[in-house]
Amino acid sequence: MRRNSYIANLKAGYLFPEIAKRRREFAASHPEAKIISLGVGNTTEPVLPHTNAGLVEGARKLGTAEGYSGYQDEGLEQLREKISSVFYRGKFNIDEIFISDGAKCDIGRLQILFGAGTRIAVQDPSYPVYVDGSVLAGAAGGFEGAGYKGITYLPCTAENNFFPNLELIPQNSLIYFCSPNNPTGAVSDRIQLTSLVNAAISKSCIIIFDAAYSEFIRDPLLPKTIFEIDKADTCAIEVNSFSKPAGFTGVRLGWSVVPKTLKYESGESVNTDWNRIAGTIFNGASNIAQAGGLAALDVEGLKEIRELTNFYLGNAKLIRDALIKLGINCIGGDNSPYIWAHFSGRDSWEIFSQILEKCHVVTTPGAGFGPAGQGYIRFSAFGHRADVEEACRRLEKL
Ligand SMILES: *Cc1c(COP(=O)(O)O)cnc(C)c1O
Repeated sequence: MRRNSYIANLKAGYLFPEIAKRRREFAASHPEAKIISLGVGNTTEPVLPHTNAGLVEGARKLGTAEGYSGYQDEGLEQLREKISSVFYRGKFNIDEIFISDGAKCDIGRLQILFGAGTRIAVQDPSYPVYVDGSVLAGAAGGFEGAGYKGITYLPCTAENNFFPNLELIPQNSLIYFCSPNNPTGAVSDRIQLTSLVNAAISKSCIIIFDAAYSEFIRDPLLPKTIFEIDKADTCAIEVNSFSKPAGFTGVRLGWSVVPKTLKYESGESVNTDWNRIAGTIFNGASNIAQAGGLAALDVEGLKEIRELTNFYLGNAKLIRDALIKLGINCIGGDNSPYIWAHFSGRDSWEIFSQILEKCHVVTTPGAGFGPAGQGYIRFSAFGHRADVEEACRRLEKL
């Protein structure tokens, strides 16, 4: 059998396995070091009691004749209704909301809608699956110079306040946009998102808006969904997830919103196709996870989401304060769980190694998220409080 040439196009070394490898090598040569990770964006705190009771109840019901359920391709109706009312003020019908096993999985699948050869525009730096998923879907060519052929990188740096120059977006492209952003922690405001929507409409583009960190927004003026912006329902799909706000990274539950008003250039409905795809290659999310999701969105559950996100934002503040005290420029961490620290003129992997060797703290080198991440380091606020405090003390050795 011939190998899929799109796989061959992927540049070797996905970011996180590479970090894990360097950590292992360091640990092997320094067995006494107690390494703390502020690297990967994986949640660390337990699922809170009310939400957990929803998961337990979901599992219990499966063992009863009355409560048993099987396939539910687009997801539990009640959960879709709840998502529409909690996150979108009831703006969407349940048939515009698709429950999934996570936002990353949806991001990987959504390109089936557009096919190979689609033009792609991404914020640079960006969450790796936008680029790597595009390469796997045949939307991009091989790696050349600092990026993949067929992908337009939109630099987001201190120079432009981490919001890209929208003039760089090519006509007819699929735009990946993440706010609050992973890795930079920057959050786009209403004016910025309005200009993004207007650019997408005028250039006949579709936006895949990743709102996985929306529940970390504390500033009431910042939009929590792209659909707060006028006409976004004609040019955007939103993906979101229970992973970070409810601690569901291992439970697996997310959703996508594909408005019925979203059309291809030919006038056909994107929603109809996504419904078809969901039923064809995906049989939906676990009904136990969905029972947990339902509990997470009732009054008690929403309090728990607030509590959990407040906890991680507390970690973020500690990290941010520690870096500022050291005179290191950084952004993020106020409405997002990531702090993006600038080490001007230095190589990200070299700073990564320095922090690992001097402080025994694992971070993520910015260059791993795209060429414009060079010179930056991402600190993740996902960690136990005592570990974060200890890591902050050790950073003083820098
Ligand atoms: C963590 C994360 C997700 C969530 O992915 P799941 O598959 O739902 O766990 C999505 N987007 C970004 C940018 C993330 O960092």
